[in-house]
Amino acid sequence: MKTEIFAVDGQKPDMSVIRRCADIIKNGGLVAFPTETVYGLGANGLDAEACKGIYEAKGRPSDNPLILHISELSELSDLAKDISEKAKLLISDFWPGPMTLIFKKKDIVPDAVTGGLDTVAVRFPENRVARLLIKESGVPIAAPSANTSGKPSPTRASHVEYDLGGRIDAIIDGGACEFGLESTIVDVSGEVPCLLRPGSVTVEELREAVGEVAIDKAVLGKLNEGERPKAPGMKYTHYSPNAEVTIVRGEGKVQKITELANSAVKDGKNVGILAVEENKALYEGFNVLFVGTISEPESIAANIFKMLRKCDYLGYDYVLAEGFEEKGIGLAIMNRLKKAAGYNIIEV
Ligand code: AMP
Ligand code: MG
Repeated sequence: MKTEIFAVDGQKPDMSVIRRCADIIKNGGLVAFPTETVYGLGANGLDAEACKGIYEAKGRPSDNPLILHISELSELSDLAKDISEKAKLLISDFWPGPMTLIFKKKDIVPDAVTGGLDTVAVRFPENRVARLLIKESGVPIAAPSANTSGKPSPTRASHVEYDLGGRIDAIIDGGACEFGLESTIVDVSGEVPCLLRPGSVTVEELREAVGEVAIDKAVLGKLNEGERPKAPGMKYTHYSPNAEVTIVRGEGKVQKITELANSAVKDGKNVGILAVEENKALYEGFNVLFVGTISEPESIAANIFKMLRKCDYLGYDYVLAEGFEEKGIGLAIMNRLKKAAGYNIIEV
């Protein structure tokens, strides 16, 4: 299959491109598009066959459900039922934006979207291209991240092309994603909202909006054998570059990273270090990729997937990553990094 690639202005996209891509969605095809979180791989969310195409193109396990994206708040009640007062508070504070909510589903939502669950994940994105594409398609768009399953999520159209070129109908290139981490997922189908996946809307902000918010165990660390996360996708290995990744965190991290890097270089390994710009001068002589600045942690969120991909493009086989405090956006950054590292962390 030939994948058509359309570059658009993210603020004022060419409507003929949007309409052409909306036609592809309406006809059961697959279109990757930018959102403020990461690039999504979209299909008609009410068409079970089209949604199956998403799983095939990504190599995604079929029990890992999809998020439905809407272009107007009024479309939520077509898909979800029992929308609680707490859900409404979160909606008024964080939609449109990088937050997904889990509701009891209505019958119209196909099992191919929910993996057979009686709940559905819905997001109302802010990104203009995304919103126009959904609106023109006239249906909710089911869209997981537009990467090969297991690889870092795509934050640039070039990442999508690298993973899925030749396997999907079209890619809309609307530039780099603003936040760069997948959405915060909150289950609002029960009494107490529960964070299932951390993202750019932080747990501190959620609690400020709605009071008590529980945190699913899978958010913080590796689950034991037989334990199941509430977001099925959280059980899969994710974001892994080909390299072996180790996170080093704490006061002595620079010294430890330098030691480990030196000994790996001696063993003939191609070593890369993922560090913040503030520490630039401390790793002289090594291959260093800068993930952002600690003074502006949002820059790390926006860059982390790009840098994990770069580890592959540069052929690193051993990567040492500086670790961060799990506060604010740091919780989401460390959640992705820990998965990339297979939970391999050294505290020093
Ligand atoms: P992705 O779009 O690739 O970030 O993946 C969507 C995420 O949403 C996965 O982690 C899914 O497990 C999660 N998800 C989707 N639907 C549900 C649902 N009904 N209940 C819990 N988690 C869900
Ligand atoms: Mg994903």
